[in-house]
Amino acid sequence: MELTLNQEFLTENDCYKTGQTIKPRGVMVHSTGVAQPDPEVFLRRWNAPGVEKCVHAFVARDRAVQTLPWTTRGWHAGTGTTGRSANNTHISFECCEPAGHTYQGGTMVGYDVEANHAYFDDLYHNAVALTATLCQEFKLDPLAPGVVICHAEGYNLGIASQHGDVLQWWPKHGVTMDQFRQDVAQAIEDEEDDSMTQERFNQLMEGYLAGQAKLPPSDWSQPARTWAEEQGIIVGSDNGEKHYKSFPTREEMAQMLYRSRQAQ
Ligand SMILES: [Zn+2]
Repeated sequence: MELTLNQEFLTENDCYKTGQTIKPRGVMVHSTGVAQPDPEVFLRRWNAPGVEKCVHAFVARDRAVQTLPWTTRGWHAGTGTTGRSANNTHISFECCEPAGHTYQGGTMVGYDVEANHAYFDDLYHNAVALTATLCQEFKLDPLAPGVVICHAEGYNLGIASQHGDVLQWWPKHGVTMDQFRQDVAQAIEDEEDDSMTQERFNQLMEGYLAGQAKLPPSDWSQPARTWAEEQGIIVGSDNGEKHYKSFPTREEMAQMLYRSRQAQ
């Protein structure tokens, strides 16, 4: 799960300045509803007073930009009188839509699915990665009801203002929100498989030590080895393996010193 995540807080936005905090219980996915792939355009436009909305991040094709601290209360599920409760519970991000289409009502017009396929793949991958990262950071289960949802689902649940995103867009590429939740869960699982645990470290250490034990000794130590074996100081295992490249433990050291003394 590779994601370039920059941070450019919208410090001039009234939402940032209000600075209310939340305990995140979910992640809400939005799309901007305008054909503008460059997040910088939104960052400039939204980093000002009087914007009346604010999200925690923008996801673009090549990166994501965090625009609010994750625990700041966003204004993404409506503001003022239209503000709904998802603002109190959900971290939010906007997905930047590619160039070339317009809108009629809530419907995309002139959207070229074929031409935008690679763009969508990249952006979707970043949206999955960001959501997985947030779920891990705030210990959220992406498959639990109401946790990872889009704006349209939030409206249907009665916790967000009336918008259709991202269902006006993602299904054109054959992606449902259920698929998204599955992909987020899978990304978290993959990440956990890769991450180091004590158990995993022990496994790797055992493998390393077993490999060392099989290595042949160096020529320079040959007289000393011959002597030590003749004196019965180095005995080796039951099948005669001497494990000359293995680390000795203190009890093995004591054993060798003891035998060495007895041989005198
Ligand atoms: Zn939205």
